[in-house]
Amino acid sequence: MDPTRFLRKRAHLRRPTIAAFLLALSISLPLRMATQTPPLRVVAPKVVQAPARLKLVVLVVVDQMRADYVDKFLPQWTRGLRRLVEEGAWFRDAAYPYAATGTCVGHATISTGAFPATHGMVANAWWDRKEQRMVTCTADPDPAARNIGYSGVTPKGADTAWRMALPSFAEELKFQTGGATRIVSFSLKARAALTMAGHKADAATWFDSGTWVTSSPYGVQAFIEEQAKSHPAKADFGKAWTLSLPEKVYWYDEKALGAVPPGGWDLTFPHPLRGKAGTGELDPDFYNQWASSPYADTALTELAKKAVDDLKLGHSAGTDFLAVGYSTVDYVGHEFGPRSREIQDILIRLDKDLGNLFAHLDQKVGRGNYIVALTADHGVVPIPEDMQRTGVDAGLLHLPELQERIEKALDPFHYPKPAIASVNGSDIYFAPGVYDKLQNDHAAMQAVLDAALAQPGVAAVYRSEELRDRPPTQSPALRAFAYSYFPGRSGDLFILPKPYWLLDSTPTGKSRSYGTGHGVPYNYDQHVPILLMGFGIQHGQYFQPVTPADIAPTFAALCGITLASRDGHVLAEALKKPAEAGSSSQLARPKSARTAASNTNP
Ligand SMILES: [Zn+2]
Repeated sequence: MDPTRFLRKRAHLRRPTIAAFLLALSISLPLRMATQTPPLRVVAPKVVQAPARLKLVVLVVVDQMRADYVDKFLPQWTRGLRRLVEEGAWFRDAAYPYAATGTCVGHATISTGAFPATHGMVANAWWDRKEQRMVTCTADPDPAARNIGYSGVTPKGADTAWRMALPSFAEELKFQTGGATRIVSFSLKARAALTMAGHKADAATWFDSGTWVTSSPYGVQAFIEEQAKSHPAKADFGKAWTLSLPEKVYWYDEKALGAVPPGGWDLTFPHPLRGKAGTGELDPDFYNQWASSPYADTALTELAKKAVDDLKLGHSAGTDFLAVGYSTVDYVGHEFGPRSREIQDILIRLDKDLGNLFAHLDQKVGRGNYIVALTADHGVVPIPEDMQRTGVDAGLLHLPELQERIEKALDPFHYPKPAIASVNGSDIYFAPGVYDKLQNDHAAMQAVLDAALAQPGVAAVYRSEELRDRPPTQSPALRAFAYSYFPGRSGDLFILPKPYWLLDSTPTGKSRSYGTGHGVPYNYDQHVPILLMGFGIQHGQYFQPVTPADIAPTFAALCGITLASRDGHVLAEALKKPAEAGSSSQLARPKSARTAASNTNP
């Protein structure tokens, strides 16, 4: 469709409103005026200008980027991250209101503007009760679906966004504005690339088996093939990640306490990309090192720039959509923790990559013609051993031990063995029929709850029947679990750990293969940055409590489209007023809506 037709149509639709206003004005004129003065000359008011068109929406999601990283590390940033703060709108009190603070969940929330109770992506993987096995959020059982590798690689499996119960913002944009929109997304992770793009896209690309990968509902692009061949990850073999600035600017000790680096690395810089220690081969350790290094972020940036050039993003008849999910901060955070030189340095590197990306967009799309939103899918808890140094109660909530306690507690009650089918993070799933029976078996249920509460680190246990349909509650934790509860997919019981206790699934007797994690309703996992910059955005710092579900509705308002869910709200504080922006879609949100918003954004 011709995009100006859409805009013309909207401008035209305003005319009856103006005519009605003039009619009302003439009726309310005092009679004296109406009879004694010459007839009112109706001067046609200036027709409201069609708003300048937003050419490209850019979504940047930095996996596991805590909100406080912006406060702490801003002095070392000089490029893209700094520019977002200096030119953009910085929401300093943005947080997920729900419990399931994970990657698939967060990206789907950002992309749809809805909470997991609505979009249904409740975890990276969950227990499929019908299939009686774990399924990932993107695993697609459709026999027609298959993953497709670039540069001659044949990847396993089939990943799509079919389990996401809502369309993404990008899909809605394309559907509602006539189809000219191109949708392109990149990440190291399928669950990020696919949820940001939606059910179909021109490109949704992630990293697997040493190369870039997509799947059958998404487009295969020649420029990605070219990039996969000319700049493969293996070309970074032998390079090393070194500290980019003098040691004195780094906040933390040389070695992060409790850190577990990828195979072949130790706890001190430089971190060489040479695979397993000593072998110097392109083994899985090399690819883990690469994904945990600045080289992976740079590879994603280069792909995004290529997409802008090759597809001429921002030059279609519609508004195009580009999403980049930077995964490396998450890998580095899991390995080295939030209090590490590695986290500080990886963000210094990302600042440069984003600077390059924005400079490229300025040049190819034009400053002011695109909008960027940067946020994160979740935060992270400090490494428990590190936190314990402060004297605060912190530790590991060992889930296999918890599971054993519950099984034992059910011994006297004649339940099938094992009674638990799966423990996945906070979610406990019982074997078929067990939970239905427990709900009518008060003594056995009490024994289960008591056993769970006896496990070190458990603060509370919630039952699924308490969470259905988001019941009104004064309990922030109960509300958080209700916001991420999706019937059929979520567990039967939910474990809330004490603050600074990490949910740990390491099999009994094995040593932990990671430093720390996320996935619970505490602020360290929920509090993330939201930074908006560019088209229609009013520079400033904003302290209203908001959520990343507000990003998609804000994009939608700027593009004049409607999303299905009202979980998120337009970030009206950060939008230029119509006179400044020349856009009818940028009206300030009425006060009443703002009050309602803060009620639902704990
Ligand atoms: Zn993670």
